[in-house]
Amino acid sequence: MDLYEYQAKELFASHGVPTLPGTVVDNAQAAKAAAEEIGGPVVVKAQVKTGGRGKAGGVKLAQTPDEAQEKAEAILGLDIKGHITRKVLVTAASDIAEEYYFSFLLDRANRNFLAMASVEGGMEIEEVAATKPEALAKVAIDPIQGVDKAKAQEIVEAAKFPADVADQVADVIVQLWETFVAEDATLVEVNPLVKDPQGKIIALDGKVTLDDNASFRQPKQAELVDKAAENPLEAKAKEKDLNYVKLDGQVGIIGNGAGLVMSTLDVVAYAGEKHGGVKPANFLDIGGGASAEVMAAGLDVILNDPDVKSVFVNVFGGITACDAVANGIVQALKILGEEATKPLVVRLDGNNVEEGRRILAEANHPAVTMVDTMDGAADKAAELAAGA
Ligand code: GDP
Ligand code: MN
Repeated sequence: MDLYEYQAKELFASHGVPTLPGTVVDNAQAAKAAAEEIGGPVVVKAQVKTGGRGKAGGVKLAQTPDEAQEKAEAILGLDIKGHITRKVLVTAASDIAEEYYFSFLLDRANRNFLAMASVEGGMEIEEVAATKPEALAKVAIDPIQGVDKAKAQEIVEAAKFPADVADQVADVIVQLWETFVAEDATLVEVNPLVKDPQGKIIALDGKVTLDDNASFRQPKQAELVDKAAENPLEAKAKEKDLNYVKLDGQVGIIGNGAGLVMSTLDVVAYAGEKHGGVKPANFLDIGGGASAEVMAAGLDVILNDPDVKSVFVNVFGGITACDAVANGIVQALKILGEEATKPLVVRLDGNNVEEGRRILAEANHPAVTMVDTMDGAADKAAELAAGA
């Protein structure tokens, strides 16, 4: 899960990283009130989960509360790379003497963590990496040893931070590492990390990605989920404990086992090319059990997706044999009743396949077409989606 800047900076502050006070608001009137309370010049910042807000006009300085209201009016509703701005952060403005870059991230390729630091902050780091790679220090972090003050000093030296801020920056790096570890983050980025004219180091921006696989041990992080911005189908699936990801095609997909479902997406995308370019509408793995309730819950989510024109149920009977799955489908269709209107292509194979197919044939549901092979079923589902 990616966090908003204001959430990232709240986490930073809770781990001792210096930030400036701010208030998140969703209307211009409240932006004015927030600026009054802060007193002095403020920065009004679009809260969207994408970078480059400054360039897109989503970060504006305001000298007075009235000006903060005006700037908030201009920024609220702004489309930044496809993200509509619903909230702005009104935060104390800082004068900037120097802008730096710092991040910790999970380095998957090297199965390690990585620190990246540069005294050329403020601009996009990809640009620094491309045009001035020597200005971006990369220091591998041993996951067992982590980052203590000595390691932080090593990073500070590698990035050639000026002597007057070296010690402060090293402290902030240790605090950012504490944030990274304690919050189970896969990314903690500060751009810009600034030196103000008094020589104080401040995190002016913050980007944090949390590892959803660790959410079971981070109960407090549930509050960070933006329910309003969540895809409603994904939210419903999550409520029912389904492994569902919404995609942008027309063929609904249900399968058992993540590997089977992923190859089903490929096969449907391939078959779809012959039928006007239809594509998979989602990823949904109902797991090994595939009980009637889980099948019904999965079908319920998929059939309620207005983009879905046909559904491909691709099940390989293993521990749960095909007859149990077939019974699950039949019962699921009963549970759904009138809602089961879109055509369903079912491909069953594996353990007890004969009995499974017999059960489905006997049920003779008008929405169901059985196809014996995966390629054939994908083709049929794509054809039905294209024809709908
Ligand atoms: P991003 O463009 O999405 O990365 O948003 P940032 O939070 O990094 O803001 C963009 C730029 O606005 C920064 O690089 C700064 O140059 C500038 N900026 C942000 N906050 C302040 C501030 O308090 N004072 C001043 N003078 N500039 C700021
Ligand atoms: Mn930034």
